Amino acid sequence: MRKPPFDRKWIEETAQKWPTPFHVYDAAAIRDNAKRLRKAFSWNAGFREYFAVKATPNPHIMRLLQEFGFGSDCSSMAELVLAEKVGNVGDAIMFTSNDTPAEEFAKAWELGAIINLDDIAHWPFLKSVVGDVDWTGRIMCCRYNPGPLKGGNAIIGKPEEAKYGFTKEQLFECYKAMKESGVKRFGLHAMVASNELDPEYIIDTAKMLFALAGELHDALGIDFEFVNIGGGIGIPYKPDQNAMDLERVGKGIEAAYREMIAAKGMDPLKLYMECGRCIPGPYGYLVAKVRHIKNTYRMYAGLDACMSNLMRPAIYGAYHEIVVPGKENSTETTIYDVTGSLCENNDKFAVQRVLPVLEPGDYVVICDAGAHGHAMGFQYNGKLRSAELLLEAGGKVREIRRAETLDDYFATLDFGGL
Ligand SMILES: *Cc1c(COP(=O)(O)O)cnc(C)c1O
Repeated sequence: MRKPPFDRKWIEETAQKWPTPFHVYDAAAIRDNAKRLRKAFSWNAGFREYFAVKATPNPHIMRLLQEFGFGSDCSSMAELVLAEKVGNVGDAIMFTSNDTPAEEFAKAWELGAIINLDDIAHWPFLKSVVGDVDWTGRIMCCRYNPGPLKGGNAIIGKPEEAKYGFTKEQLFECYKAMKESGVKRFGLHAMVASNELDPEYIIDTAKMLFALAGELHDALGIDFEFVNIGGGIGIPYKPDQNAMDLERVGKGIEAAYREMIAAKGMDPLKLYMECGRCIPGPYGYLVAKVRHIKNTYRMYAGLDACMSNLMRPAIYGAYHEIVVPGKENSTETTIYDVTGSLCENNDKFAVQRVLPVLEPGDYVVICDAGAHGHAMGFQYNGKLRSAELLLEAGGKVREIRRAETLDDYFATLDFGGL
């Protein structure tokens, strides 16, 4: 069973200042995890992780990750602005967007970001947006979609059905065109996994990109500065799953690098990653209170949290472990559907889950909510998003986002003309 870094007493005290539901992130655990990732790739002098901002778009989390040299992987205007505000600019931003609006390319250019094109048509489009500029110092990158050449993954699906990236032929054409326009610095990118727990899949992605960088090098005389193997490293949401063996991924990619890059005289080549989920995911918790117990055709435990706080169970049928602080060792159990208050029957955090017998007033901790959790929340049904708290190493709690209020919800409405 998961052991959150706090107990029922801590929740009771914290809830006096920040009523449930709230998200809380364990800063020390996130730091340790960031260190572990960095260490697994320390063999690569230029290694850099660009934290995928969309996973947990909070400047305080981004700032914490900056301590480890992590940049920002952005794919929208808001994410670019967040990166700018925490001081990640220039090559500390990887702009990996798709179906990109002109103003976002303009902003990414202005910030000096590494621009990662999603499509061959985006090269002339980008040029039309930024105008007649000097490309000399800029790093340009393209996103490869291997299509049927690489097998699928449960969340991201089959590459050939994914909307992202270039075909192989298009890559050759685009790098050639960029070179002709005066671009001198290049990277190569692919992101073909999501919530993947098999180290081989990630190692294979690196191998695929190493081979492709070699082919592009031979055909076009391009010396790549980096390959970015994307994010997509999974976390063990389910009790029977194991965490990704990052050390093995690091070693596997190192071996491939020696054979495919160093032996070909293509080093140094920097290895980049843009993981989101696996960095803060396991170290964020959604804390909620049982509001009602309902006994009809099933037993329902209704919480004060709902899909506005965590959508993953509702949209992916995702499993999130639920801990009941103070009742961890209880032998009296019941099977519950754990629900929110939204008028949507998929507003359930767990379906037919064995839990300690619950009563109104009990607190529940929904685990692994640190990534794609708060960020995915929505305001449908007028349900508001909760606060985010940071549990600092010494036990101090810091509010890093306040809870939404009705005024926030109504802020875009004009009641004047009624
Ligand atoms: C979502 C996304 C990521 C992060 O994915 P995780 O599964 O959170 O690691 C990285 N890069 C791109 C382009 C993405 O769209």
